[in-house]
Amino acid sequence: MKKTFIELQDVSFQYEHTKVLHNISFKVEEGDFLAILGPNGSGKSTLLKLMLGLIKPISGEIKLFDEPIQSFRHREWIGYVSQKSNAFNSAFPATVEEVVKSGLAKKVGLFKRLPKNSNDLVEKALSAVGMEKYQSRNIGQLSGGQQQRVFIARALIAEPKLLILDEPTVGIDHENVQSFYDMLASLNEEQQKTIILVTHDVDTVSNRISHVACLNQTIHFHGFKKEFDTLSPDQLNNWYGHSVRKIH
Ligand code: ADP
Repeated sequence: MKKTFIELQDVSFQYEHTKVLHNISFKVEEGDFLAILGPNGSGKSTLLKLMLGLIKPISGEIKLFDEPIQSFRHREWIGYVSQKSNAFNSAFPATVEEVVKSGLAKKVGLFKRLPKNSNDLVEKALSAVGMEKYQSRNIGQLSGGQQQRVFIARALIAEPKLLILDEPTVGIDHENVQSFYDMLASLNEEQQKTIILVTHDVDTVSNRISHVACLNQTIHFHGFKKEFDTLSPDQLNNWYGHSVRKIH
C-alpha cells in the first residue's frame, strides 16, 4: 500500500468572522504530483499554511505522514518554496551556490558545520533542476524561472520526501512554463519526490501532473488529471467562477 503523506479530514478555517475553507477532505499519497487549482482568494495560501502547521483549523484533523500535525516532528521531510522566495533583485549579493547551501541548515541545523561533501550536494541539487551551469552566478541576475529552480534546489538539498510549491509558475515566461513542469515531473518520476503545488494559472497546468484538486472555499473536485480533463465547461465554471479555457 502507498504511504499517505498528507491527510485532511473535514478541515475548516476562518479568519476573524469569515469562513474561508469549508470541510476540506483529501489525501496526498507517496508519489503523487498534485496541483491545487483555484482563483485568487479561493483559499490556496490558507490551505498551504494549514498543511505546514502555521495556522490551526477551527475544526477537522490534519495528519502529516500518518501522524497528527500537532505531534509531527520531521519538518525536514517537507521542502517548502514560498511565492516570495524569488523576489531577488540584481543587487542581491548572494551566489546561486550560497543560496542552495543555505538549504542545508534545515537538515544539519542552523550554525552547525556543513558536511564535507556539501559542494557535491549543491551540484547534485542544481543538476536536478537543470541549473548546474549557474552555480557561481549572482542570484539577482537570473530570470524569474531560473530563480524558482534555484529555490527548489535549495529545498532539495535537505532531501525532503515532499515538496510544496506556492504559485511556482508566477514570473516564468509563458513559453518556459511547460519545460518548468517537465523539470518538476523528472523530480517526481526519477527522484521520487512527492509534489504539491498551488496555482491560479489553470490554463497552463501541465499533463505531467498526476492529480488535480479544484479549490474554491471547498474542494469541488479531486482526482486524476485525466478525469479533470473530462469536466464539462459548466462544472469548471461552477468551481472557478468565470469561464475557464479548455485545459490541455
Ligand atoms: P488564495 O491564496 O487562493 O488567493 P487566500 O488563502 O490568500 O487565497 O485567501 C482566502 C480568503 O481569505 C480571501 O478572501 C482573503 O481575503 C482572506 N484572507 C487571507 N488572509 C487573511 C487574513 N490574514 N485575515 C483575514 N482574511 C484573510
